[in-house]
Amino acid sequence: MAAPGAREVRIGEGGASGADWELLSEEIAACTRCPLHRGRTHVVVYRGGLHPTVLFVGEAPGKDEDRLGLPFVGRAGRVLDRAIASVGLEAETVGIVNLIKCRPPSNVFDAAAARTCRPFLDRQLVLLRPQRLVSLGRHALHTLAPSAPPITQAAGFAQDGPFGAVFPLLHPAAPMHAPKYAARWAHDLTALRAWLALPSTQTS
Ligand code: URA
Repeated sequence: MAAPGAREVRIGEGGASGADWELLSEEIAACTRCPLHRGRTHVVVYRGGLHPTVLFVGEAPGKDEDRLGLPFVGRAGRVLDRAIASVGLEAETVGIVNLIKCRPPSNVFDAAAARTCRPFLDRQLVLLRPQRLVSLGRHALHTLAPSAPPITQAAGFAQDGPFGAVFPLLHPAAPMHAPKYAARWAHDLTALRAWLALPSTQTS
């Protein structure tokens, strides 16, 4: 469900300046609203340019992301970067963000932290104004498209959400762990490439 104030805002209709973005990023980097701040090395705010065409939304930082302060810079990040290149996107036209900005202990998704972090995500979406949203994994899918079916049904098929259409992918760690997910991942990337080529009016 969208955070208060974000519900009527669809991406593509906001307006950001670099100063707005810097202020928000500094606010996120200083956050102590939930217990995860105690264990972090870095807050992981964002990777990409200020006006990405496509925004990829993941779950939470892992060990490498916590160490470097950037999302998806470990093994799953390499899978994601290869996927981004394979669908024909230039690195500078995409943005990558997580639902949760601080690493949860043992990398277990922390739903309470995600709720606390949610207003930051909503504000990032409004400022970044991506033309397309791609969710990575089930938590990102059901945050951006709350009424979507389970990830195994939804992946590869555009879903409607409060910020507009969302294209769900499995989490990029999935294809590293099971051949059946590797096959699904490859299949869904083909569908993503086709979806990205659609006119914006036909994305959902
Ligand atoms: N998994 C995520 O969901 N996000 C990251 O930044 C790294 C791994």
